[in-house]
Amino acid sequence: MDIVIDFFPPSVTVGSTPATAQFGIRIMKKMKIIRVFISKTNATPNDDLVRINTLPSLFDEADEIHISVTFTWDIARAEQLAEHWKFVAPVKVGGPAYNEKGGDFVAGMYMKNGYVITSRGCNNRCWFCSVPQREGYELRELPIVDGYIITDDNLLACSEKHINSVFEMLKRQPQRPQFNGGLEAKLLTQELANKLYELKPVSMFFAYDTVSDYEPLIQAGKLLREAGFKKNHKITRCYVLIGYQGDTFAKAEKRLLQAWEAGFFPMSMLYRDQEGKTLKDWKLFQRQWSYSTVAGAILKNYEK
Ligand code: SF4
Repeated sequence: MDIVIDFFPPSVTVGSTPATAQFGIRIMKKMKIIRVFISKTNATPNDDLVRINTLPSLFDEADEIHISVTFTWDIARAEQLAEHWKFVAPVKVGGPAYNEKGGDFVAGMYMKNGYVITSRGCNNRCWFCSVPQREGYELRELPIVDGYIITDDNLLACSEKHINSVFEMLKRQPQRPQFNGGLEAKLLTQELANKLYELKPVSMFFAYDTVSDYEPLIQAGKLLREAGFKKNHKITRCYVLIGYQGDTFAKAEKRLLQAWEAGFFPMSMLYRDQEGKTLKDWKLFQRQWSYSTVAGAILKNYEK
């Protein structure tokens, strides 16, 4: 549940009250800000002021340059780029890699239009996750802006009022929602499962990271089926963390199959340490289980 690619550079983060934050957002919207990303993902914005891992051209002009760094192993490259971009405009380097707390969400700024974050942080303390460290140890609900790809760290941990407002916002969107940020199985209730079903989502990601997630995952599978979701359909997916110290292919495969049996389509997520390193030999295994077509074929054989 730890995939957040949005940030506010520190000096642009303004105030903690909604009024001052909104003022800051208005200033940002008026400025010409070139955003430089180290790599491109599905969420990376694609407007004219976005650059991917590149040096400035002769024609680049801006009021500020923001270099957005998601992963710690990209910090060195970001700082190299900053040395070149500083000749265009003042540079701010920031992002999740720097363990910076995110501010209010600005649509389209560091994530493509459609992506939205309505809350940040998580009250849990999973050992492999940088969210609590980065966002502080308390979840914060943000002003809700329109979008349909929800990337909150832990949406279901928000208040009932906030979740209902997010669902109301989603009903107004022309596209069906995608819950990409991660839904905590333990927090799912029958009422929430029914509401999710009414929203007709394209996809929802749950997580099976540690042994303690297993029982709640089985329960969540039952609630989702009771609400109307089909078993093992690609709408209800589950990220399964693999390849951490002490893990083996056999153990990882067992968890992936357990997620399937609980009614979810399993997708592997390979553990990386602070430097982005993974345990040897896990990449191929991970690839098989992260592409849904390949994983689908493995699961079909398993069913026979
Ligand atoms: S539940 Fe665990 S993995 Fe998910 S955001 Fe919270 S701390 Fe991170």
